[in-house]
Amino acid sequence: MPQQPRHLFASTLCTALLALAGGHAAAQDPLTTRCESAPIAALFKTFGDTGRMPPDLGRFLQNAALQKIEPYKAFDNVHYVGICWVSAWLITSPKGHVLIDTLYGPFTEPMLDHIRQLGFDPKDIRQVVITHGHFDHAGGAARLKAALPQARFAMTAEGWREAAEAAAQTVGRPNEWAMIDKDMVLADAQVLQVGDVKLQAFETPGHTMGTASFAFDAFDGGRRHRAFTVGGLGLNAIKGPEQVEAFIASLQRIRKLTEDGSDPVTTHLTTHAFSNGLTEAKELIKGRKPGDPHPLVDPKGFREQLDALQAGAEKRLAAERAKKTN
Ligand SMILES: [Zn+2]
Repeated sequence: MPQQPRHLFASTLCTALLALAGGHAAAQDPLTTRCESAPIAALFKTFGDTGRMPPDLGRFLQNAALQKIEPYKAFDNVHYVGICWVSAWLITSPKGHVLIDTLYGPFTEPMLDHIRQLGFDPKDIRQVVITHGHFDHAGGAARLKAALPQARFAMTAEGWREAAEAAAQTVGRPNEWAMIDKDMVLADAQVLQVGDVKLQAFETPGHTMGTASFAFDAFDGGRRHRAFTVGGLGLNAIKGPEQVEAFIASLQRIRKLTEDGSDPVTTHLTTHAFSNGLTEAKELIKGRKPGDPHPLVDPKGFREQLDALQAGAEKRLAAERAKKTN
């Protein structure tokens, strides 16, 4: 979600951060969390509001042990192979798999182990799609390209440009990463087919102007659900009012997909688990009894999340417009 953290090593604690964390700084120290959504979301809100990485959040993001999440089967053909704060989704079929996003740095190689742990061969991944060019989603592309020579990599045209630019900005820094050369370029509404997986790409500019989102089927026993991964959720990389306007238009477009009478999107498989309580909801999968509804199928919750994102974006739009006229 964020751009490369710029204040990762800052040492001062921000009082607003403490207030957002609930007023009990010690008890709410995110380093002691077990990846609970609320404190992480609060710290990211501070990051978005201030443009500065809260030190607690920086430490949390750098703590590899706290980022580790056991991979799990979310649906019969959809598996979570991400870390605590960033998702990666593996959509499987007997004739080949699709991977959404690459993780980064120390987390991409363990993701391949997680895929094996779930019973799949990473070499059967034919397609990697990348939501946008920030390091947390695209940073592992080079490692994956080396490990999966048979896989194609796809982003929007602007996404490829953004990823190259973001990687270039890290040259010579401790957090340096390299982006792969441009491979497939996604067009809006394009459907990619890999084995039995059909994945539809949408250009959803806003979080970055090159952000893509994806729709696909998720199967649960005999039931099919329309799932959607929103490619970018935060307003932390905004460069002006036009970008916020694009973000709002994308949110409205996605909301319409949840209202599609013939085949509505009902399930948000997010790029950041803390953004919609996925971390907690996934625990409900374990205790589910036959006949229980699937805990991740929640069209109302998805619409509420989109509405909340839009409300935040409208506030930000007013602020960006004011900034521009001042
Ligand atoms: Zn991002």
